[in-house]
Amino acid sequence: MDESPLQTQVRFLPGVGPVRAESLQRLGIETVEDLLWHLPRDLVDLTEVRRVGELEPDILQTVRGEVVELDDRRIRGGRRMASVVIDSGDEFLKATWFNQSWVLGKVRHGDAVLFSGKPKRRAGRWEMTHPRIQVIDADDLEAHGGLLPKYPLTDGVTMEVMRRVTRDAVDRFVEHVEDPIPETWWERFGVVGLHEALAGVHRPESVDDYIAARRRLIFDDLLEFLLGLALRRRAWREAGRSPRLPVSAKIDSRIRRRFPFELTGGQERAVGEIVADLDDDHAMHRLLQADVGAGKTAVALYAMLVAIAAEHQAVLMAPTELLARQHWQTIEGLLEGSRVDRVLLTGHLSAAARRETLQRIAAGDIQLIIGTHAVIQQDVEFASLGLAVIDEQHKFGVIQRSRFTDEDREVSPHVLVMTATPIPRSLCLTQFGDLDVTTIDDLPPGRQPVVTSVIWDDATRQKAWGFVREQVTAGRQAFVVCPRIDAGEETGEGMGVEQTWQRLGENELAGISIGLVHGRLDIDEKAAAMQDFRDGRTRVLVATTVVEVGVDVPNATLMVVHQAERFGLSQLHQLRGRIGRGSYQGYCFLMAGRQDETAAVRLEVLDQHADGFSVAEADFLLRGPGDVLGVRQHGELPLRVADLVKDRELLEETRAIAFDLVRTGEVDGDEAGPLRRRVQERFGELMELPQTG
Ligand code: ADP
Ligand code: MG
Repeated sequence: MDESPLQTQVRFLPGVGPVRAESLQRLGIETVEDLLWHLPRDLVDLTEVRRVGELEPDILQTVRGEVVELDDRRIRGGRRMASVVIDSGDEFLKATWFNQSWVLGKVRHGDAVLFSGKPKRRAGRWEMTHPRIQVIDADDLEAHGGLLPKYPLTDGVTMEVMRRVTRDAVDRFVEHVEDPIPETWWERFGVVGLHEALAGVHRPESVDDYIAARRRLIFDDLLEFLLGLALRRRAWREAGRSPRLPVSAKIDSRIRRRFPFELTGGQERAVGEIVADLDDDHAMHRLLQADVGAGKTAVALYAMLVAIAAEHQAVLMAPTELLARQHWQTIEGLLEGSRVDRVLLTGHLSAAARRETLQRIAAGDIQLIIGTHAVIQQDVEFASLGLAVIDEQHKFGVIQRSRFTDEDREVSPHVLVMTATPIPRSLCLTQFGDLDVTTIDDLPPGRQPVVTSVIWDDATRQKAWGFVREQVTAGRQAFVVCPRIDAGEETGEGMGVEQTWQRLGENELAGISIGLVHGRLDIDEKAAAMQDFRDGRTRVLVATTVVEVGVDVPNATLMVVHQAERFGLSQLHQLRGRIGRGSYQGYCFLMAGRQDETAAVRLEVLDQHADGFSVAEADFLLRGPGDVLGVRQHGELPLRVADLVKDRELLEETRAIAFDLVRTGEVDGDEAGPLRRRVQERFGELMELPQTG
């Protein structure tokens, strides 16, 4: 086979050898190609480094010189003073450190060093106190003209070696790299060629050069990902004939009669968009996002009843049994007296009941099915599935959404995905980039924002409990949320959910009936605990985050969250959404377990913003995408260079380009062959893309 020179093993490169090759392997670098794609994390700009004679007093500068004198002595008061004198060929500078003799361990006579600090001129000589110190390789610095890429390293490979080896590899091999974007498209996309980009990150000639180079690499990273999504979307649309689900005025009014309220403007728009999608024989793939309490369930039910009116089945899948039951109860309430045959399908049916239910679904006797993702995806055969509503809670993420369409069904159902909380736009474009998006941006009338306070000290904590007591005595109900089931090492508010339950019963809330619910109870115990609370037999419910979503108890107007700093902001917003539903004012107390400035900044966001979109955006900027999505592993996107926070603008541009390439069919042309292959290589399997040429 004709191997590309890029497949050359790095151990054959000059200056590498078997030992370093082994170290490089730990960084995932085996071939020249790997080396070229081992990108610097950052660029150190030393073009502004001065010689001593060029310094100006009292402003922060970096000066370069050679170490000519080292000293460490005891001075007055038992303190020690370490000093290093450097020579930059024109003048000397003396740097001093008090009680930091370890500094001297970092440098030797003759080393080239950089000091960063504010210099002063004293008695005709330059001095710096406590500068930052960095030993450099003078040759390295010359070779890079003062612009030094910084690489992730491992034992056995120094920065200098990494730079030299990479620089050589760029010189010798970059021409062999295939550029997936044809040259004729570079200008249109506003990018430089890939060879120039790889050279520009590893060996930049200017800072601008480096920025343009990185931009190209980020662009490719995003473009390939988004093109994958765009291609998957197209495959979905082309794959299935879907049942047309038209809505007549009669059906519309029959459905609306089910709701004890008028739909809000946002709900109306959502219904409008969904109705238009359903009346089409291409499958709908739509994301419905809204703030907590905006009323997604009603919209979902509307859509399901449309499917049922057209004599197809509809299914609603929730991520947990608790949520499936919650949806079931809500929908049972709304469907009271209706002729729709419906079933709650859980993992806890007896084998016989289960078999019978599955048979009735397969025969088309049941029209509306509610259950968990797991149960439904495993073993349900539908007679004629018209619509699948997936209550996603993000936890399933971009990758595993296609299950319904990729089996060789002749007819694919329409798919409506609902997210439990609003998602910042850039996350939405990636996580849900293959879906059409409907946003409900209003709330049902009469909702008052929850009054939220962040509490640090014991005195305020006691006051808060007093307030909770008072309110509960006056007839309200309260949630107390703990981050975990078991106690940690911490004391006090850091207790586990059971201990908290016990302690509250003996102290702060003595005499009040308190329920307990957490993930380790079995489903019937959980359901019973929820039911007791819903019916008011318990006035306070101590819980882990099983109450996070979907639980709807209008009389519960108080929430106390222990160790609030352990939760993501969107999650906290979701939690407090549980108590903003009735006609009474809701109060949320975020009790911080430990004093921590970043925690304070984060939690204050909830005090300042009442709507979930602002909260999500702030959380995203503060903590990055993984945390907004709640569960890091699932939230992680397969991107190599791009950063969803920093590269938000480029993301928007790139998405438009990706979807254009698919819409115009350019993606299918010969020119795009290499690009298609890259997408297939990176995402084909992950996104279950159809094979292309
Ligand atoms: P979420 O979007 O968080 O899933 P839900 O669908 O659970 O919200 O609805 C929250 C509450 O608001 C429910 O009690 C529901 O009955 C109520 N609700 C929904 N739509 C309206 C409306 N248009 N007017 C009044 N109340 C509504
Ligand atoms: Mg809901």
